[in-house]
Amino acid sequence: MKFAVFDVAGAVHIGLVKGGRVISATSAIPGLPTDTNQVIGRFEEFREQFRALESSADGWLALEDVHLRSPVSRPGKILAIGLNYADHIAEAGRETPTQQIWFIKASSSINGPFDPIQVPKASPNSLDYEAELVAVIGRGGRHISRADAPASVIGFAVGNDVSVREWQSHSPQWSLAKSFDTHSPIGPWITLTDEAPDPHGLDIKAVVNGVVRQHSNTANLVFDVWDQIVYLSQAMTLEPGDVIFTGTPGGVGWLSEPRFVLSDGDVVRIEIDKLGYIEGVCKDE
Ligand code: ZN
Repeated sequence: MKFAVFDVAGAVHIGLVKGGRVISATSAIPGLPTDTNQVIGRFEEFREQFRALESSADGWLALEDVHLRSPVSRPGKILAIGLNYADHIAEAGRETPTQQIWFIKASSSINGPFDPIQVPKASPNSLDYEAELVAVIGRGGRHISRADAPASVIGFAVGNDVSVREWQSHSPQWSLAKSFDTHSPIGPWITLTDEAPDPHGLDIKAVVNGVVRQHSNTANLVFDVWDQIVYLSQAMTLEPGDVIFTGTPGGVGWLSEPRFVLSDGDVVRIEIDKLGYIEGVCKDE
């Protein structure tokens, strides 16, 4: 099942995607909350109704006729791991971390899968992309074991951990440099775990203006998604709708030879096998 949020005719809908079409759950399921975190948290309650909706004959709209939004409207928190693919660690000239390196991206940086990405006034010449697999927390919890980790997520999506490199060097921690408005696009929808139970072994790519700049496989994560959930949940309760960026492979623009930065008009597409793609155009703020 593929969980999406879209707007059409000025109204926002939670819905399902199947075969290039989308259907509104908001219209079809009485009592469905409008808040995506609540729907994700109470998904089991509604699962049968979603399943019935997915096999419904009528009410489908072509994806081209709607505007897809972030499938989590406002995550409670966005957590992101650094230095988690061997080739990215090598290009950054770093040692393989023995502990997971985490930072927080502001929830307000969330962005739709096909919406513009701002080239910020504060740093117009250091904008970068990072192709990432994103895990979305469903049931969540605290002190989650590795065995229980798969059941704690609702599904997976494609993400771009957009980064303002110059600001990354302002401070020993990266949160502000990773939290500019529009710099956490995710989508195009959440592929739920019934369809994608294991997020490892998926091809992942960043394509900028038609040129492949990152290409790896999620099998190459240093700390895999389940380890990440175990580690994070020792510190904090993972809640429905929380979003986890799981690391980026080698090939980021800032460390490329010659250096590449995103500017107005550049088109950044991130693709992951089975999960689809997101594509944003960079626009001067
Ligand atoms: Zn990242």
